[in-house]
Amino acid sequence: MPIKLYNTLSKEIEVFKPIKRGEAKIYSCGPTVYNYAHIGNLRAFLCADLLQRTLKVVDGYKVIWVMNITDIDDKTIKNVNDDSAWKPEMGTKSNDIIANLKEFTSYYKDEFQNDIRLLGFRMDHFHDFPRATDYIDGMKKLIVLIADNGFAYESGGSVYFNVGKWKDADKYGKLKNLDFDNFRTGERVDSDEYEREQVSDFVLWKAKKDGEPSWEFEFEGKALIGRPGWHLECSVMEKEILDLPFDIHTGGIDLQFPHHEDEIAQSKAGYGIEPTNYWFHNEFLQVEGQKMSKSSGNFYTLRDLIEKGLDPIDIRFAMLSAHYRSKYNFTFDDVEAASKSRKRLQKYVYDLISNNVGHDYIDVTLFSEKFFDHLKNDLHTPKALGELFTFINQNSAVVMGKNTRDEMLEFFSEFNEIFGILSFEMPDEDIPEEVTMLAKKRIEAKKAKNFDLADMLRIEINNRGFVIKDTAEGFEIEKL
Ligand code: AMP
Ligand code: ZN
Repeated sequence: MPIKLYNTLSKEIEVFKPIKRGEAKIYSCGPTVYNYAHIGNLRAFLCADLLQRTLKVVDGYKVIWVMNITDIDDKTIKNVNDDSAWKPEMGTKSNDIIANLKEFTSYYKDEFQNDIRLLGFRMDHFHDFPRATDYIDGMKKLIVLIADNGFAYESGGSVYFNVGKWKDADKYGKLKNLDFDNFRTGERVDSDEYEREQVSDFVLWKAKKDGEPSWEFEFEGKALIGRPGWHLECSVMEKEILDLPFDIHTGGIDLQFPHHEDEIAQSKAGYGIEPTNYWFHNEFLQVEGQKMSKSSGNFYTLRDLIEKGLDPIDIRFAMLSAHYRSKYNFTFDDVEAASKSRKRLQKYVYDLISNNVGHDYIDVTLFSEKFFDHLKNDLHTPKALGELFTFINQNSAVVMGKNTRDEMLEFFSEFNEIFGILSFEMPDEDIPEEVTMLAKKRIEAKKAKNFDLADMLRIEINNRGFVIKDTAEGFEIEKL
């Protein structure tokens, strides 16, 4: 069975056909690094991780995965300019606004990468993490191309995309099937994010305002000074790194409009090519059935949840257990349940490794095919996991013969290449697996110079009655 994916462009589940045989180029809209990522953002990235791992494991694709870092937009500039948002670890603020922007966003870029490492992402799975401010020249060039083709104009030192003209040349609004009842030609919007009701000319280049980082831009004989619009950033990074068209573009469902619609318009009006063949959008994460928001007190970052005693790998498994196109309702009970299920799977794997008697009578191939077919069918993790738990309920690991156990371990190895939640090393009898996991995470946090997190994890280990000691080889765990 080939891999099938829901494509927002066609609104159908389609067979995935790569541009180049055996290769899948994926671009994910990444984090805006003005603060810590929240768990909703992390769900979006985890859905992309699930996609790229599935393509590799179930069909042997060579995946080239790019996730951008948005290090300039309205929200980022606001925080960089707010002295109270600076932390001592960020270094000192200077008079150089662009240097300040780099300093501030580098901190949150590193924190973001620490978060996803803790969530079981593998850094070697990424081809690149381009930062928007490293692609300003390409952005200016794309604006000129769009203007040369007649779809951009300057007004008040800013440059706008002429949606009024474009909608006669192409079908603007196709990702969300927008109608144009609310469209008024010539109306302009300058902010990076806007609503459906505001379908209007969007900004490609914003004239500098006081205190904002800015670059010079020679446009149609005028010396402009300002910065790129948010939508333009992704159009340029994906073209320069992956070339167009590439295979799959990912992002949360909120990005369908305007961000992704505007990406399509820019690429097509400037480069003459649509960016991608498949648009992959994940549904939102909610918390206890509510939209997550700071004012409702249900806003969580990964570090908030670690402080509350949750293990990031349980959060990973809980999130992956929901279908990516369904809303995921994050609750502490759900993570607790995911933790129990994960431990059951882990025990099953240990039983497979340590058992040495039994009979070969189970058809692992049939089960394994069913499991992976669910994943091939638009990444249906709930059905796949349902299949797995039914199987392990019916087939105890301790009565399996050697051949069956080897086949099952092979299955779990592939399973884990996608899910990334199991260990195949037998644990030390006296030290609980979760303590070893926390200790491993602490070492990773230290390597990434995230000492706050390393301290937090040490305290977690102490709370469980153990103490961790650093050694030349790594660490040792002892009872308190
Ligand atoms: P941002 O850092 O705001 O640009 O968002 C990064 C990614 O997170 C984008 O793909 C968003 O669509 C996605 N996102 C934002 N909020 C949520 C949420 N509550 N649930 C799932 N994805 C989200
Ligand atoms: Zn983007």
